[in-house]
Amino acid sequence: MPSKIIINHSENYRERSGKIRYIIIHCSKFTPEKQIEILDEYKLSTHYIISQTGKIIENCPPERVAYHSGESHWQQSEEKSLNETSIGIELEAPNLGQIKEDFTRKQYIALTRILEKLCDKYHIRPENILGHSDIAPARKIDPGCGFYWHKLYRKGYGVWPNLKQRHPSKNETELLRIIGYDTDNLIAARYAFCRHFLPEEVIINNDLQELLDNPYPKDFTIQNQEKYQLYLRATAKAYEMARQQKYWYMEE
Ligand SMILES: [Zn+2]
Repeated sequence: MPSKIIINHSENYRERSGKIRYIIIHCSKFTPEKQIEILDEYKLSTHYIISQTGKIIENCPPERVAYHSGESHWQQSEEKSLNETSIGIELEAPNLGQIKEDFTRKQYIALTRILEKLCDKYHIRPENILGHSDIAPARKIDPGCGFYWHKLYRKGYGVWPNLKQRHPSKNETELLRIIGYDTDNLIAARYAFCRHFLPEEVIINNDLQELLDNPYPKDFTIQNQEKYQLYLRATAKAYEMARQQKYWYMEE
């Protein structure tokens, strides 16, 4: 548990009626102070913000719904947005998370501490820790291909493929759907998958505004098709297995 969390509560929230099931990781190029200003301006909010130095700010208590994920889906969810069932964590990342150096060691330490606290308190399943781009592939780019998901996985959060265990399906859309992606826009889902699991396929864009305006290249094609197929099948298998995992402290 971090020694101190700075409280700066937003007025943009509503009471939560559903169970918290997800944690959504975001990033922003702005400092926490500036982020709060912008969130306020757009009547949005998030639960936590972690600065480059590892400082944690609570913008909304987890018991309340914050407005951080917008229109979003996962695993054919019926709701229009995952806000009701999720906690949002925003990381300060000057290049919008496109490069590894965008996230500091102190940030990862602060993030794992907060994940530990939240997963323990709300019984959140490890496979339900996702990126904003995973749940809104056509609209969002964060936390970006520089975010080190494997590092989190080693601490027990998220899912990572074991390449030796593969799903029998070879159908791209089906595999992406098994993982949880909304495949209405297949290219966007494919790109979001790469951002999370195969960052070497992602094209770095130094024009950050252009990147925000065009979250994925409309004509995106995979360079290493064989490796993509392998990662896709192994990731689908890993999610399937993760969902079957039983935890003594969880009723579901
Ligand atoms: Zn976001």
